[in-house]
Amino acid sequence: MQRVALLGLGVMGAGMASNWLAKGFALSVWNRTPAKAEALAAKGASVAATPREAAGDADFIFAMVADDAASRWVWLGPDGALAGAKPGAILVESSTLTPGWVRELAGRAHAKGCGFLDAPVGGSRQAAESGELRLFVGGEPATFEAARPALQAVGSKMDLLGPVGAGATWKLINNQLAAVQIAALAEALEVAHKAGFSNEQISDLILGGAAASPIVKLKLPRMLGHDFELADFAVHLMLKDARYATALAHSLGAHGDMISGAAKAFARAEAKGLGDKDVAAVAG
Ligand code: NAP
Repeated sequence: MQRVALLGLGVMGAGMASNWLAKGFALSVWNRTPAKAEALAAKGASVAATPREAAGDADFIFAMVADDAASRWVWLGPDGALAGAKPGAILVESSTLTPGWVRELAGRAHAKGCGFLDAPVGGSRQAAESGELRLFVGGEPATFEAARPALQAVGSKMDLLGPVGAGATWKLINNQLAAVQIAALAEALEVAHKAGFSNEQISDLILGGAAASPIVKLKLPRMLGHDFELADFAVHLMLKDARYATALAHSLGAHGDMISGAAKAFARAEAKGLGDKDVAAVAG
């Protein structure tokens, strides 16, 4: 039986964890807030007191945490997972992070004789729960093949996009496009309301037109109804992604005008106290 360790049991990590258990992996979990591990313990996961303990004898060690700082802490902090990883284990970073940090972490993993993949995900809570994430993977082909069984347990489609950092890079490009569309929808609604259009008119006109992308269709009813309860993806995480994506664009000599504008809109929502609400709250 292959052994998986998972660090981070938020919206995405909790869903992924259930799939490893359902598909016959031995699973060890750690979360900063221990109460979130209780449901998984009841399903058969062993709960570790530290990331280092979780990594213990795992063949694959996944992290699914908020941002670069959280990732650095769970891997390299006091009692971090890298210290507990056995040589030959494969570390998989699935959080949405900067390519620079992911490459630094890969270097540390390789120095310890461990494999490394960055494998951030497309899809949200529902895809995590049903094991149908799309994985954007960076790393060596041999490491990708060795990790395939553990990746396939949580993802229905996966692409090896290039060396370490390629997955993180594509994920930021993906969320650049998503953040811009969500922020642009909020901006259009503000103008439409100020111009006197009703919710019914706005809905009918947007949904009947060419600008109604899947994400616009998903977020429009929530924005019109001011329903900002967290569904799947929080404002503060999209703000983080928009900032990382802006930095990526600038590092590559791209203008990044739209994504830096979207970052401003998400920062405004966070400043209003809406950071933990659904991304639709950028219209709040
Ligand atoms: P979430 O529900 O907010 O969970 C965040 C996780 O990170 C929790 O386990 C949290 O621990 C942990 N964490 C935060 N700060 C930490 C720190 N300083 N040290 C240790 N652990 C820390 O987030 P999520 O929605 O699952 O997202 C996880 C990652 O996936 C993010 O990088 C996000 O951008 C990405 N992502 C999310 C979605 C989505 O739709 N939600 C989709 C694709 C990718 P606590 O439980 O103790 O707070």
